Amino acid sequence: MIKSFNANENNIDKASKLRETDIFKHKDFKVNKIRLVIAYKDKFPIKNSNKKPYQIFWLKGQKAEHYILSSKSSIFLGLSNGNFYFSICLNKLEYSEDMYYDLRTLNPLLDNNDLALLTNSRGLSYWHNKNKFCGICGHETKMTDYGHARICGNESCKNKSFPRLDPAVIMLITYQDYCLLGRQKVWPIGMHSTLAGFVEHGETIEQAVARETFEETGVKIRNIQYKYSQPWPFPSSLMLGFHAEAYDKKLHVDYSELEKAEWFSKEYIKDSPENEIFKLPGKISIARRLITDWINN
Ligand SMILES: [Zn+2]
Repeated sequence: MIKSFNANENNIDKASKLRETDIFKHKDFKVNKIRLVIAYKDKFPIKNSNKKPYQIFWLKGQKAEHYILSSKSSIFLGLSNGNFYFSICLNKLEYSEDMYYDLRTLNPLLDNNDLALLTNSRGLSYWHNKNKFCGICGHETKMTDYGHARICGNESCKNKSFPRLDPAVIMLITYQDYCLLGRQKVWPIGMHSTLAGFVEHGETIEQAVARETFEETGVKIRNIQYKYSQPWPFPSSLMLGFHAEAYDKKLHVDYSELEKAEWFSKEYIKDSPENEIFKLPGKISIARRLITDWINN
């Protein structure tokens, strides 16, 4: 079985059936089962950053219930261990500012449950912020279904819209014992990574892998194989990881997209001290996992 990547082994039930009901009247609901995280913009409060995994500040009980019932932006994230998880995103600080961290920073520091819950919250909050007006009539929209839809406030329209995410392909291209890595000017010094790009309308994800590879580097590929995926709400991607083989090592790099792209041998990557000349992307990234899985096989 192919496993998804990161935040994969968690015990969260999204309980999607509950979204269109009154969760507070659910037979298993009790006030002391509420767990609420109150985000500030796109940052989340941490209770204790002295030990790993970091502990998210989950507000409980009546205080949390009060926030949820008086907010127009509370999102139901799901059930876990019998508890009901919610998030609210505010533009003002509820706790001291130094308790807040953005999700990119928190990503490797949380346990799988908290990571999955916050990834869901971050992705949905971004979508809500971008969809405050109806795409059909231009009237204001409001959140509904506990944060899993928006509905137009114009009585003659009432268009309902649902959260969207953007599929992106990320691919390790290899030729014998070499792999193709590129870098963009804005990346940290020395960092090299796999090619990537967004899936476009009218193509399959495999076609997107072939097209992006050819557009960025001029390399033609075969044996395109899906490996694993990673939710990436920065702002709203789903990363789909692939491995493919090049027909040859000829390169024709598009320098408007990449600062450079080169073939690197397994040995070079294995022996690299990962410094300012060459380093791989961060440990949580799907890119690094694609590269290290190939090296270790
Ligand atoms: Zn409308």
